[in-house]
Amino acid sequence: MVLAQLGGSISRALQQMSNATVIDEKVLNECLNEITRALLQADVQFKLVRDMQTNIKKIVNLEDLAAGHNKRKIIQQAVFNELCKMLDAGKPSFTPKKGKPSVVMFVGLQGSGKTTTCTKYAYYHQKKGWKPALVCADTFRAGAFDQLKQNATKAKIPFYGRYLEDIYLVLTYDFVERFKKENCDLIIVDTSGRHKQEAALFEEMRQVSEATKPDLVIFVMDSSIGQAAFDQAQAFKQSVAVGAVIVTKMDGHAKGGGALSAVAATKSPVIFIGTGEHMDEFEVFDVKPFVSRLLGMGDWSGFMDKIHEVVPMDQQPELLQKLSEGNFTLRIMYEQFQNILKMGPISQVFSMLPGFSAELMPKGREKESQAKIKRYMTMMDSMTNEELDSSNPKIMNESRIMRIARGSGRQVREVMEMLEEYKRLAKIWSKMKGLKFPKKGDMSAL
Ligand code: GDP
Repeated sequence: MVLAQLGGSISRALQQMSNATVIDEKVLNECLNEITRALLQADVQFKLVRDMQTNIKKIVNLEDLAAGHNKRKIIQQAVFNELCKMLDAGKPSFTPKKGKPSVVMFVGLQGSGKTTTCTKYAYYHQKKGWKPALVCADTFRAGAFDQLKQNATKAKIPFYGRYLEDIYLVLTYDFVERFKKENCDLIIVDTSGRHKQEAALFEEMRQVSEATKPDLVIFVMDSSIGQAAFDQAQAFKQSVAVGAVIVTKMDGHAKGGGALSAVAATKSPVIFIGTGEHMDEFEVFDVKPFVSRLLGMGDWSGFMDKIHEVVPMDQQPELLQKLSEGNFTLRIMYEQFQNILKMGPISQVFSMLPGFSAELMPKGREKESQAKIKRYMTMMDSMTNEELDSSNPKIMNESRIMRIARGSGRQVREVMEMLEEYKRLAKIWSKMKGLKFPKKGDMSAL
């Protein structure tokens, strides 16, 4: 989980306060000091942390709170609100629309993860039914084009790039135009990076921008630089019209919180975060759900709304109970498959969870997906109760797999594919273990 350490420290501080019999000034100060320490350790700017502490104290005036008020809830809510304020930088300057061609130019220092992020961004949109294309205008880093080509090929995204440095601007322009004519609605231009900010980098950025007239410029930065992100984001903003930011490598750095808050302080909205080297390790950054998750409250507000919307009332408590137990068995998978086939919309519920339905029920390929689900269910019909109810994939040894294949008239390969799907879903499901689900619209209940 992103920023697990910071989140853990903050929620522990809140929990300790909740354990106190009486919440007085001393308990509140201890809690706030603990949160302050955690934020400073995550490299959040001292001024931001101090302001946050002052604001919380202003809101939570213990003496003024009438008896009977739930002080704990007020304090938790104040921490939640202040963290949201700290990370909120408003909306991006432009939001591409599906079906209408937009040019998005990526800028950033070398090594920040720019090229990787271009493909992740394209892939993310492609999965949602967009028609992205990639254009490499990186003349500086040998290998940038090969990398883009490799990633794009893997994700089946059209791309263009060439080594001809002297005419790259003309070519970049040509290919942006060509992709527009081919009805691509998201044309992503990767530009050169440099080891450090320097005149040549900014000049090249300006030239590509001039040639391609991007609708949105996305600045990509590495979270490991922590609060130094402030100066870097400012410098890029001054040279080119940065409309949004993507912060990468949030999976490995204790300074991620510092980087996010520093970028927000420059009033540049973060729209996505990179959480790993793989193509789908990429998350939309939305301040409230993010803070909610940081505080161990889960980012399930949208998910809960969907559950309430589409799962029949009588099935809701049971589903939530199973989710919070985190034990995903083949029987649960079977039941959820039944739901998917019966009600269709349940796939929408799981699309709120990373990785669940995106691949299982890709848009436009529902028929194919349904056939796959039915095939999996036939194989599961040949399983014993022990196999269905076990959450230990290791029990599925060779002889069991052979028996299931024989029993369902399927290939061993297909049974193994189904078990792989199970393992993938079990991994996602396990992330929900121990989650307390809020009632609809009540985040403070957490
Ligand atoms: P560029 O020079 O800015 O184009 O950077 P690259 O895209 O080549 O990325 C530099 C390195 O960072 C590569 O090894 C990537 O795999 C890695 N990388 C990119 N994004 C992430 C991320 O979100 N998490 C992690 N762990 N690694 C990343």
